[in-house]
Formats: sequence, structure tokens, C-alpha cells
Amino acid sequence: MSEGDSNAKQRPDGRAADQLRAVNFKNNIAPYATGSTLIEWGDTRVICSATVEESVPRWMKMQNVEGGWLTAEYSMLPYSTLDRKSRDISRGKIDGRSQEIQRLIGRSMRAAVDMIQLGSRTIWIDCDVLQADGGTRTASITGGYVALSLALAKLQADGLLKCDPIISPVAAVSVGVVGGVPILDLPYVEDVAAEVDMNLVMNGEGEFIELQGTGEKNTFDDTELATMLAHGRKGIGELLDLQKAAIAEG
Ligand code: UDP
Repeated sequence: MSEGDSNAKQRPDGRAADQLRAVNFKNNIAPYATGSTLIEWGDTRVICSATVEESVPRWMKMQNVEGGWLTAEYSMLPYSTLDRKSRDISRGKIDGRSQEIQRLIGRSMRAAVDMIQLGSRTIWIDCDVLQADGGTRTASITGGYVALSLALAKLQADGLLKCDPIISPVAAVSVGVVGGVPILDLPYVEDVAAEVDMNLVMNGEGEFIELQGTGEKNTFDDTELATMLAHGRKGIGELLDLQKAAIAEG
């Protein structure tokens, strides 16, 4: 019996320890964006879009920085959570958590693209959470990459880009420790119970772009970390395959 099988009964949705929730992409959900997809990851759903602007931020012009720029915004729609979450605009300030997440999405997306090859333009990655059930930041990154790829393909088809500026695909997944067991891809019910909570962002070469890990309720040791990373690596491999298939569909 594999480790996954022995833990299957312990997870609320019956998944093995190293099993992802079902992940699907519905492309072109926002037709006016240059590229878009709705990523459905278990009960977490995020609209990800990539919009191209044929200009670069002022600071790039002032500092004579060559190439393009890519930036991200993240927001939870008011009805994406069980208790209504008011919009940032109603509160008059951006939520600290949203700011942290959108910076993570931006850094992750920039790791996927050669900014010189992108040319003198800006890509906005907008991630709007339709339904939140854990892992909204990892869904935003994984879906954001699909939206970005669709937008870059459109720029190439329109003759605005001569070659593909993608350096390597990027995907993200959560791992954690619940009840002493390292597990992959935590929904909300596991996230709130987790002793350790970690998000991994990786590229197609199996390299890390970012690790965010916290012993929320407990410390963790090398063995647990190694198991979380192994689960994460397996999950990322599967996500990269799903992204590739979604991008090929166009
Ligand atoms: N969550 C929520 N309201 C909030 C923030 C979070 O309901 O204002 C829930 C939501 O299901 C989210 C989960 O808590 O997915 C975990 O939040 P976390 O900050 O760990 O980010 P995520 O796992 O979504 O990347």
C-alpha cells in the first residue's frame, strides 16, 4: 500500500496524500482580454486574464530600461467567500493579503518571460477569485500562466511578436502538514487545520521560483519538508501537463 493509499481515508475528500484536486481550464472566458482562462481547481475558481498595453511604465522610460514589463493584480470577488468580503474600493485601501499575493503572481509570471524579447509593452495579469476554497494564489499563478501564454500566442499570430518570449512554463501548488501527515493541495478545510502551510512556485525545468512555507501551528523537520517537496514536485509536473494541453486548445 502506498503512502497515498494509507492516508486516503483521512482526507475530507478522500484524496491520496499526493493527489491534486481536479483541475480544468475554460479558455477565452473574458473575450476582450488578450488571453484569458477560468481555472477550476476543485471548488476554487479564478478568472485569469492577460491584457497587453503597447507602452511601458514611466520608471522604465526614465531609467532607460530595455524591454517590456509584466505586472499582476489579485482580488477576491465579494461573493467568493462564505462570508461576504467587501471590495477594497469600499474600504478605501488594498488588503495586505491581496497585495502580497499579487506581488507573488507578478514575480512568478516575470520568471516565465524574457523581458527583452517581450519588447516595449506591458502585460497585466488580472486574477479575480470567483470562488475560494483554498489555494487561490496557486490557482492564480497556474491559470495566470495559461492566460499569459494565450496572449503571447495572439501577439505572435498578429505579427506583433517575432518569437516566443517564454523562457519556461510556471505552475504553483500548495502543500502542508495536517495531523502529522504531509499532503498536497489543501482545500480550505485542510488549510485551517494545517500545522504547516507552504506554497511552491516552480518552472518547467523543475527549478524553484518561490517557496513560502510557515510552521503555523507546529515546527517541521527535514523529513516532512522533503515529503512536502516531493508531493509538490509531483503536483507541479501534473499541472504543467494540464497547462500545456489547455494552451494547445487555444
Ligand atoms: N479565505 C477567505 N477569506 C479571506 C481570505 C481567505 O475565505 O479573506 C479562505 C479562502 O478559502 C482561501 C483560504 O482561506 O482560499 C486560504 O487563504 P490563504 O490566505 O492561505 O490563501 P490561498 O490558500 O487562497 O492562496
